[in-house]
Amino acid sequence: MGGDAAAAERPDPSWVGLLEGLRMPVHSVACHCGRIRFEVDAAIERVTLCNCSICTRTGYLHWNVDPARVRMLAGDGEWSSYRFGSGVAEHRFCPTCGISPFRIARSDPHLIDVNARCVEGVDLAALRVETFDGRHWESAFAARESAHGMARRD
Ligand SMILES: [Zn+2]
Repeated sequence: MGGDAAAAERPDPSWVGLLEGLRMPVHSVACHCGRIRFEVDAAIERVTLCNCSICTRTGYLHWNVDPARVRMLAGDGEWSSYRFGSGVAEHRFCPTCGISPFRIARSDPHLIDVNARCVEGVDLAALRVETFDGRHWESAFAARESAHGMARRD
């Protein structure tokens, strides 16, 4: 995005959609060996760092995107899955190299949770990183929902 000025002024949503369409970047995402590859038509506006037991171990930087913006190029459905706890989240990883370029998150099961670290050419230091206290998932999720309640787009 062009900065925080746009967010402060809240332009007409129809104009926002048009502008986003005009400058929509295409990001290539892949596991390490390339068995699983896809493209995402969206800008990386912010990513989330979670401190839960699995995100800490995998080093995930969550970039949630609409499934309609994801285009599989290789390995569709070939990933292995790991579930634990509530079983809602599907932790997907490449059965060849073990890297997880995307998964389904418990907090947003309707979205694709892309690992921003698997985006080709990504400048990790330039990303705007927010944090999520996944170790205390219930309270963190409730806090997030109330904070974002007025800004929901759907
Ligand atoms: Zn792989």
